[in-house]
Amino acid sequence: MTQQAPSSVDAVIVGAGFGGMYMLHRLRKLGLSCVVFESGTGVGGTWYWNRYPGARCDVESMQYSYAFDEDLQQSWSWSELFAGQPEILRYANHVADRLDLRRDMRFETRVTGAEFDAAAHRWTVRTDRSDVVSARFCIMATGCLSTARKPDFPGMDLFKGQTYHTGHWPHGGVDLSGLRVAVIGTGSSAIQAIPVIAKAAKHLTVFQRTPNFSIPSRNAAMTQEYEHRWKSNYPEQRAAARMTQSGILRNPNDFSALSVSDEERLAILETRWQSGGTSFMAAFNDLVTNQTSNDYAAEFVRDKIRSMVKDPATAELLAPKGHPIGTKRICVDTDYFLTYNRDNVKLVDVSKKPIEALTETGLRQAGIDYAFDAIVFATGFDAMTGTLTRIDIRGRDGETLAAKWEAGPRTYLGLMTAGFPNLFMITGPGSPSVLSNMIVSIEQHVDWVTECIAYLGARQQDCIEANRAAEDNWVLHVNEVAYKTLYPSANSWYMGANIPGKPRVFMPYIGGVGKYRETCDRIAAEGYTGFEISPPVREAVAAE
Ligand code: NAP
Repeated sequence: MTQQAPSSVDAVIVGAGFGGMYMLHRLRKLGLSCVVFESGTGVGGTWYWNRYPGARCDVESMQYSYAFDEDLQQSWSWSELFAGQPEILRYANHVADRLDLRRDMRFETRVTGAEFDAAAHRWTVRTDRSDVVSARFCIMATGCLSTARKPDFPGMDLFKGQTYHTGHWPHGGVDLSGLRVAVIGTGSSAIQAIPVIAKAAKHLTVFQRTPNFSIPSRNAAMTQEYEHRWKSNYPEQRAAARMTQSGILRNPNDFSALSVSDEERLAILETRWQSGGTSFMAAFNDLVTNQTSNDYAAEFVRDKIRSMVKDPATAELLAPKGHPIGTKRICVDTDYFLTYNRDNVKLVDVSKKPIEALTETGLRQAGIDYAFDAIVFATGFDAMTGTLTRIDIRGRDGETLAAKWEAGPRTYLGLMTAGFPNLFMITGPGSPSVLSNMIVSIEQHVDWVTECIAYLGARQQDCIEANRAAEDNWVLHVNEVAYKTLYPSANSWYMGANIPGKPRVFMPYIGGVGKYRETCDRIAAEGYTGFEISPPVREAVAAE
């Protein structure tokens, strides 16, 4: 039974993923009363929802884990280099038990609206269970990829078989054995799911609109020696990761792909390919800024695909050509390309002839009717803004967040947005977020918000709000930095390109986790430059 929420708290936290969990822990320590609302039945966020076969983190587990608690990081052991979804979810539950987080969480409860009362300096937060909670702070720990999206093909309701979305996979698992299965999409989720589904299904047809670059993960069982190497100086390694570009220690080479001979370049790329994972993109320091350098790395991966996939026509379809490598989220896989050598797997190119409709028995594309028992939508998310703008958030003067962000998200540091006092975002648009190790960025944001709230408390101040000029400058800066790279040239979800009608704006901040942290710390140390801080309402009235 989900308990009734309290009618008044210091802080409402929305979401019980890694961001919401740590936020609750920090604010409790500060002595604040909190309630966390979570639409799922448990903690874990992304790792609660994305239970599709093969779901796995592509940041190494020794790095994709909380760093704030030395006992926790020393006592927890990961079984593999890259943990699978079930293990990460067990970890999230372990942390929730250890910190006794659930007593302040209300599950199966979705926040539907939040309205700021400028006269009282308080938020009124509403849920789909009719809770109405008054709170001084409202903290959106809603995740960057939490609103799953299915295309709106004609006949979506006609299909009589089973349909699934990778981001909302049934909790009991799905038995696809012996079935004719379709997977629509070839992004990170599909690239992980396809090899596993292919082994179970009688036949698998993959509908690909855009091929993606993918690097083998080289996942393996954790060894004691490797674990010890991390744990023997964990705090120092975590501190070093916080100051990197991506929040991941991955030995970046600080020289251009153009500064070495052809043989050396190939050897370096081969070494990275053999060691596996996203560190491939750290082979040279200009892979996302110099088209020629990028072309070398892209062609290297295309050649690998050609060497792995036996049928040359399928290999060519799988070899990405329309965007620079790394400008759409680089994928990490286990046997993805080799899967297309199986007799029971077929690739269908829908780039020129889109899927026309779902039918009672399957789907129609290019005038051909395909019959399936199950269709898997691996079609992604309304990323970064979708979850926030679907909540009826109303700031000062009743302005809605959805209206304010109509032409694209506007934030100061990805932490706050002008006109919405005391509303914080954890890894919001305009922060490194999805371009980084999410847990590193989550911890940085939660720590910053906690210290900001403590600062207000220590000075008997009530309210903090981003200033519009500071926000305008930050938005400009986020754009300037993005347009120095090759990223904006790709039709990626970073650009909102996967959602029809979504403004084309580069949403995350690409300036780097380390530099961004320094900026946030400096702004706090200067007394929150670019923010307006105001006293409690009674004092404000008395002063007038
Ligand atoms: P995604 O990267 O947005 O991929 C969605 C796929 O669906 C794309 O191939 C897209 O094609 C295709 N698609 C969408 N609409 C379509 C349509 N109407 N017809 C045909 N194809 C269509 O989504 P995702 O794979 O779920 O991944 C999202 C993000 O989640 C990743 O980029 C990553 O950040 C994160 N993630 C991480 C991990 C990990 O840590 N290992 C795993 C999974 C996901 P187009 O490219 O042509 O739009």
